[in-house]
Amino acid sequence: MAGSPETAPPALELRDLTVTFTGAAHESPAVRGVDLVIRRGETFVLLGESGSGKSVTARAVMGLLDQPGVRVGMTSALLGGRDLLAMPERERRLLRGSAMTLVFQDALSALNPVLSVGDQIGELFRVHRGLSRGAARAEAVRLLELVGIPAAAERVRAYPHQLSGGMRQRILIAMAVALEPDLLIADEPTTALDVTVQAQVLRLLDRLRRELGTAVLLITHDLGVAAEIADRVAVMYAGRIVETAPVEELYDRPAHPYTEALLSAIPDLERPAADLRSIPGAPPAPGAVGAGCAFAPRCPRATALCAELRPELGEVPGMPGRTVACHHAKEALDAVRD
Ligand code: ADP
Ligand code: MG
Repeated sequence: MAGSPETAPPALELRDLTVTFTGAAHESPAVRGVDLVIRRGETFVLLGESGSGKSVTARAVMGLLDQPGVRVGMTSALLGGRDLLAMPERERRLLRGSAMTLVFQDALSALNPVLSVGDQIGELFRVHRGLSRGAARAEAVRLLELVGIPAAAERVRAYPHQLSGGMRQRILIAMAVALEPDLLIADEPTTALDVTVQAQVLRLLDRLRRELGTAVLLITHDLGVAAEIADRVAVMYAGRIVETAPVEELYDRPAHPYTEALLSAIPDLERPAADLRSIPGAPPAPGAVGAGCAFAPRCPRATALCAELRPELGEVPGMPGRTVACHHAKEALDAVRD
């Protein structure tokens, strides 16, 4: 892990994030009170089934949901110790895109089709750093080299459609690290790529994290991806985090029955694209979560208590650095695994 003093503020510290979609006839809560503390230089994976609220969380953090029909709340948001809620909107907007960046799954639609990749990367340096055209172009070439694009001096003139999916994803990553952000959020960055290219892109993210000390929030539904590069993992279910743990501990001894179910549905973690779709049942619709635990209807460990009282996310006794939201965590932790 990239070393920095324990005393340095985390790359991101977010408290009690809620996101509710208000456009439809009834309000639809998508994120229901999420805390995220991401340390400098670590890879933090947000793992969950499709629809659990991962992308909405990422977009809320990036400030991309400040629009009609969406209500976003949070009690605190610190980026590298800077208070995002206290600063003027203009200042916050400048940080988003420089100190905090987002890489999407779909590289083709995220790039501008009518600008060469050199002009797109260069523009970041011209806008944020006031560099001349020539100096910005030189930075673009340097970044293409950094993300492992061969013949960077020529490729810098290419347009997005002239490049493969893997190359385009590298260019998005180059743009995301260009201004040396505190935090890079990558939302399913490899889902659209074939398996070999996926592995290359993950290795690239991991190398940049180490070399630049950038914290990475990697969003995925793929347990294999999480196992490969995570330092810590948060498991998300129906808009809440239900468990956080260092990656080895999570995989060795899950504390939440949902995590248990995910892991037991996977025959082989080494198999790429190991998927979360194989647990019986389906997650609840956003509006259909009752007073109890949202996972209770699918949970083999559920009791009457689980249907009535939602377990709060709290520390796992005797396991520093781990949290879980389950009345039966001790049973899950004590279960014998093979
Ligand atoms: P994930 O990324 O984990 O697959 P999302 O964060 O995209 O899930 O979605 C979480 C929930 O929010 C889903 O139920 C989804 O239908 C809902 N949602 C996402 N975007 C919108 C929107 N623009 N309007 C209404 N509901 C939305
Ligand atoms: Mg998503």
